[in-house]
Amino acid sequence: MSGIKKIGLLTSGGDASGMNATIRAVTRYAKYKSLDVIGYYEGFKGLINNNSTVMDLNSVGGIIDRGGTFLYSARSEEFKTEDGMQKSIQNMKKDGVDALIIIGGDGSFRGAHDLHERGVKVVGIPATIDNDINGTDYSLGFDTALNVIISLISKIRDTASSHDRLFVIEVMGRNSGLIAINSGLACAADYILIPEVKVDLVRIANKIRNHREGKRHTLIVVAEGAAKASDVAASIKLLVGHEVKISVLGHIQRGGYPSALDRLLAAGFGKKAVDLLLDGKSDCMTAIQGNVIKSCTLEYAINNRKEVSKELYDLAHILSQ
Ligand code: ATP
Repeated sequence: MSGIKKIGLLTSGGDASGMNATIRAVTRYAKYKSLDVIGYYEGFKGLINNNSTVMDLNSVGGIIDRGGTFLYSARSEEFKTEDGMQKSIQNMKKDGVDALIIIGGDGSFRGAHDLHERGVKVVGIPATIDNDINGTDYSLGFDTALNVIISLISKIRDTASSHDRLFVIEVMGRNSGLIAINSGLACAADYILIPEVKVDLVRIANKIRNHREGKRHTLIVVAEGAAKASDVAASIKLLVGHEVKISVLGHIQRGGYPSALDRLLAAGFGKKAVDLLLDGKSDCMTAIQGNVIKSCTLEYAINNRKEVSKELYDLAHILSQ
């Protein structure tokens, strides 16, 4: 027996499509297991300020297909302090909350781990469009973001090939090239720049100069953490002498209704998170590995970096010859 009767739920860090579907899954499954659920607004900030709402079957109706998070998200520096953490723990006690489910990225999981070390039962659900959390093949929001990016780059490709243009397209990914490499491969980008690989503009310029005859567009995808699109474009123009257009996709990559994969993940992760708590587990997160919903320790998730596969990186460039 876990002794858990009431769980708290929050979304933290960058928003990711599928967060709402996950809030729905956690709430409905917890209700099915006869648990009470409280949602804290604005992540850890709401936990510190005791800004919460009682969740029931109706409060999560009609949200499965909405992007963003209706519990809102925020970054909280105060939560990182001992004082902020103690305020959060006191508020949970006041609310009678026995355990917390945290939907967010690696930063949020560091906070979750800190709460666990102070005696709070916590389970994380990985949600970040960067998909950089170790231990899970997918995090919520990644697949939706990829689909949004693919649809946008396809539109750029239409105009690029009509006018024989060279485009540099900047996508998200401050520290990780996973979005860039996967979207670039899926869109047949000619070159993909990621933070993990040193930018070699001369090599790109040579490839552009040696493009096979008949090719009418060049697409370069750059992760924001690798270089700025405007800098890459200026350097290539200088090296190749060809006009270069840029497109910075920006926050549009975060929006939109969740993909089928993210909705299915939301259902599986929501159920698994509640089951983990009822099994007496803490300090862990839900994960999907080889199409099976599993769990993984928070320690493993936050202390190991998820690498971009060299094979995938090489394949993307081989196929774009
Ligand atoms: P994303 O990957 O989408 O940015 P994230 O969860 O990594 O999501 P962060 O801004 O890094 O987003 O973290 C969210 C919140 O988690 C922070 O505002 C802070 O309150 C808490 N947090 C982050 N790092 C730590 C830490 N080392 N210790 C305690 N709490 C932390």
